[in-house]
Amino acid sequence: SGKFFVGGNWKCNGTKDSITKLVSDLNSAKLETDVDVVVAPPFVYLDQVNATLTDRIEVSAQNSWIGKGGAFTGEISVEQLKDIGCKWVILGHSERRHVIGEDDQFIGKKAAYALNEGLGVIACIGELLEEREAGKTFDVCFQQLKSFADVVPSWDNIVIAYEPVWAIGTGKVATPQQAQEVHVAVRDWLKKNVSEEVASKTRIIYGGNLDTISFVVLEEVASKTRIIYGGSVNGSNCVELAKQEDIDGFLVGGASLKGPEFATIVNSVI
Ligand code: 13P
Repeated sequence: SGKFFVGGNWKCNGTKDSITKLVSDLNSAKLETDVDVVVAPPFVYLDQVNATLTDRIEVSAQNSWIGKGGAFTGEISVEQLKDIGCKWVILGHSERRHVIGEDDQFIGKKAAYALNEGLGVIACIGELLEEREAGKTFDVCFQQLKSFADVVPSWDNIVIAYEPVWAIGTGKVATPQQAQEVHVAVRDWLKKNVSEEVASKTRIIYGGNLDTISFVVLEEVASKTRIIYGGSVNGSNCVELAKQEDIDGFLVGGASLKGPEFATIVNSVI
């Protein structure tokens, strides 16, 4: 379902020197051709990375402002990101939701604005440990998905990242089965709540069998949207995870700071 997608989220890590080394390791890495590869450096290094990194890898921001720039101290606008050649932005990451306190509505606004301006969005969702233990995993993920679905103009440029919060930075990776279970549920949710909507809005002008055609439109949206997994992915567990039918790639934190290990993860595509 869609081309394999691997993102490296560098979070708030690195120095000029360590990032120069990481870029040079990535530039010399052998990467499978059939994978979209994106890295998200901290804002202050975005331009440096974009200017020195191979065109094979695209660059993402880790956040963006909800609208046009102006008097918003400390913020970075989508226009500024596009100006330096940035193609993507990560939104709704659990660290922004739970450490910084962003809510669904704020995240939704950012996603709508970024997509309208032509940036790709890596839209993150995922439950806390206590939510999983209370049997609320699907409810939480669907609510977060809905807050994206309610506002985004189209699904052409979105990748969904399922990142269970208990697996992030903990070394406690979800089992392939746990991840697959949520990924398939997310795809079903998209089928029911997004594809039908898109299919009903799509004007189909054709003189033959309309039912067959709207069915094709309906299938396409959910099956084309990439659903990637994040949370303690590393060079040793990526292959088993990548074998799952509904895992279309990864969003990697810690292990993306090491060029060779990140390349191993990119190359885990089946
Ligand atoms: P880790 O890979 O360090 O667990 O982080 C995952 C993550 O949050 C990626 O966005």
